[in-house]
Amino acid sequence: VGQRQVAPADAAQLVALVRAGDTGPRALPATGAPARAEDYAQFERLLRGELRPIDVLRELEASGLRGLGGAGFPAWRKWVTVAGQPTPRHGVVNIDEGEVGTFKDWHVLAHDPRPALEGMLIAAAVVGLDHLWLYVRDEYHDVRALLAQELDALRARLADWQRRYPAAFGPRSAGGAEGGGALLPPGGPTIELRRGAGAYVCGEESALIESLEGKRGLPRLRPPITAVRGVYGRPTLAHNVETLWWLPTLLRDGGAAWAAGGVRGRSGWRRYSVSGRVRRPGVYRLPAGSTLNELIAAAGGMADGHRLYAFLPGGASGGILPAALADVPLDFDTLADYGAFIGSMAVVVLSEADRARDAALSLLRFFAHESCGQCTPCRAGTTQAVALAQAPMWDRERLSDLSHVMREASICGLGQAAPNPIDSVLRYFPHEVAP
Ligand code: SF4
Repeated sequence: VGQRQVAPADAAQLVALVRAGDTGPRALPATGAPARAEDYAQFERLLRGELRPIDVLRELEASGLRGLGGAGFPAWRKWVTVAGQPTPRHGVVNIDEGEVGTFKDWHVLAHDPRPALEGMLIAAAVVGLDHLWLYVRDEYHDVRALLAQELDALRARLADWQRRYPAAFGPRSAGGAEGGGALLPPGGPTIELRRGAGAYVCGEESALIESLEGKRGLPRLRPPITAVRGVYGRPTLAHNVETLWWLPTLLRDGGAAWAAGGVRGRSGWRRYSVSGRVRRPGVYRLPAGSTLNELIAAAGGMADGHRLYAFLPGGASGGILPAALADVPLDFDTLADYGAFIGSMAVVVLSEADRARDAALSLLRFFAHESCGQCTPCRAGTTQAVALAQAPMWDRERLSDLSHVMREASICGLGQAAPNPIDSVLRYFPHEVAP
C-alpha cells in the first residue's frame, strides 16, 4: 500500500492506496500506530506561538481547500464565519460517510487518523471551539474502535501540552482567530465520539446535528446555517474528516504549494474512491482536476473484457455521464455544464455490460429507501420515480416534471439530487428508454 502523491502524467507510477481486498478490519493495527515526529507538529507550532491563528487562515485561503464531504464550500470562509459568531462555539467532524461508492474517509481513518485529529485541534484553536464531536457511521465499528483509542491518547497529550504551553490554555476573548486571549479553553476542548445509526440522510450536516442532539435525524430548514446556529443552537464548524486531514500538510508545505498540486486550473489534492468495472477498485490520492481516464489508469485500467460505457462521477447524487466525457476534469464546479457534480469524489465505472437505466433505477430505489419522509416532494417523489423508471419506455414528460418539482421543492440535498439519475438518462442515454 503506497502513500505517495503523483502527477497524472506519471500514470505508470500511480499508486493504489487501497486494493479491494484491503478494506476489511484486518487492515487495522491492533493497538494503534507508534508516535511519529510529524504527529501534531503543526498544532504544536500554534501552541508555541510560532504560527498565529491569522497565519493559519491566510494559508487556508491560499490553499483553496474546499469541503471534501460533497458540498465543496471554501474552508477558510466557513472558519471566518464561525469565528465571527458569539461564544461558545462548537465543532463537528462528519464521519458519516454514506454516499454510494464513497469509502475514502474510512481509508483516511484506518490508515492515518492523526492528521485529521490534528486538523480538528487546529480548527478548534483558530476558530475558538469549546466542544467537539466526531460522528462516525454505525457500520465503521473498526475505525470507531481505533478512534476511541487515538482520542484517549490525545486527551493525555492535551494535559501534557497544557503543562508545557500554559499560555495557550485559559479564558478566551470573543473575537475568534483575531480576538486574542488563549487559544484553547482550560484543559482543551471536550471531545466526544458519537455513533450514527445507519441513516444516509444523517450525513447531511443539519440532520447529523439533530441526531447528535438525540433527536430523529431530520434535516433542518435553512437559514439559519450551521455556522450561525448548529449544535444546541450554538455556532458550529462542521467539516468532513478528509478536509481536516489535509490541514497539517498544507501548513507544513504552505497553502500556495498545496494549491499548486492541482491540475487544469484546480487547487490541491483529493482522494477519489474508484469502484465498478476497473481492475483495482480503491482509494486514489490524485491532483484535483484529474480526469476519469486518469483515474481508470490509476486503478489499473478497465477490468478484463470490459469497455468504458458510462460513469457516476459523484456517487448516487452526482448523475451519470457517458464515456465521451472521460477527459473532463473531475472537481467541484467542472461538471455543472454537464448536469452532474463530483460531490465526495465517488467514481463508479460502468462498462458496456451495464445499462445506465439500471443504475438509475437502483439509485432511485436507494433514495426512496433513505428519504427521511419529512417533505412531500422527496417522500412521494422518490417512490413515484421508482415506479416510472421501471417502465420499458420512459414517460419523458412526467419524469421531467417530477424531477423539476423534487429539485425545486425538497428541503435538503437528498431530495434535490435524487432526480439526477433520471435527468442523466434522459439527456445522455435516451436510446435505452425510448423506442
Ligand atoms: Fe427528508 Fe427528503 Fe425532505 Fe431531505 S428532501 S428533508 S431527505 S424528505
